Amino acid sequence: MAMMGMPFDDVLMNRVRGSLRECMGKKKKEIVYPVLGSGQGLIDTHCHLDMEAYSEDLDGVIERATRNGVGRIITVGIDLVSSREAIMLAEKYPGIRATVGVHPHNVGTMTDEDYIQLRQLAGHHEVVAFGEIGMDLHYDFAPVELQREHFSRQVALAKELQLPVVIHDREAHSEVMNVLVDHSPYPAGGVMHCFSGGPALAEEVLALGFHISIPGVITFKKSEEMAEVVRLVPLERIILETDGPYLAPEPRRGRRNEPALLLFTAQRVANLKDVTLDSIAEITTANAERLFYAVAPIPVGSVS
Ligand SMILES: [Zn+2]
Ligand SMILES: [Zn+2]
Repeated sequence: MAMMGMPFDDVLMNRVRGSLRECMGKKKKEIVYPVLGSGQGLIDTHCHLDMEAYSEDLDGVIERATRNGVGRIITVGIDLVSSREAIMLAEKYPGIRATVGVHPHNVGTMTDEDYIQLRQLAGHHEVVAFGEIGMDLHYDFAPVELQREHFSRQVALAKELQLPVVIHDREAHSEVMNVLVDHSPYPAGGVMHCFSGGPALAEEVLALGFHISIPGVITFKKSEEMAEVVRLVPLERIILETDGPYLAPEPRRGRRNEPALLLFTAQRVANLKDVTLDSIAEITTANAERLFYAVAPIPVGSVS
């Protein structure tokens, strides 16, 4: 018998895998998406569709998003390779647009040549913003001086190119604000993506004319400070994002995030603002259109 030769650990692991699969399969079926009315749907303003996590089933991910009303997605570059891939995805799928930029994690090896490349990529007609750029003091993958230098230099380039900026700020609030204030004003606008500060930072970001992007974290139990921010920020300045494959909202917390799950984030924001899901969709979509799609208009409709 084949089983007899199998080490006990493997038998056990197979059982664990089997029950995990069963459990995940069950949960997958149970998920019920909030339902949107007949409006223009939601825009996932920040997702990383080029990442490995989507390589097996990207068509399915996009189809599921479209079916649930998330017909438009902005896929965000984090280095030169992913910026190129973002553009390729935008060329392939009608509902997808791209951003280009180098994330603070990846600035350690940036060269002058990279800036020439970025400038070229940013001129592509599918590109709607510059980013994500910023600072990250949670992980110090690149020295803080280099993060500051390349953040500042990329902000300057984005402004020269008249593109909105997509800002990443993790545990670097005052550093990020210093650079942003230095370079203000921002005629093409900007967004603090995956906003993680409190009301005071929100006020500073709003004063720059920026939007505040709310991630799936708002659906987590311990998100009181973010809930306070959502209540405080005018609806006209809020946009929504998944930041997929990271930060999946409840009821999928801890698993892979994807654009269709934006519905749960939108529903939670609707509850906090005490308005309907449809009005949240209408307003945040109009906001994202003003911010991003004035650069590269996109027809309303399905992704696939
Ligand atoms: Zn980020
Ligand atoms: Zn991101």
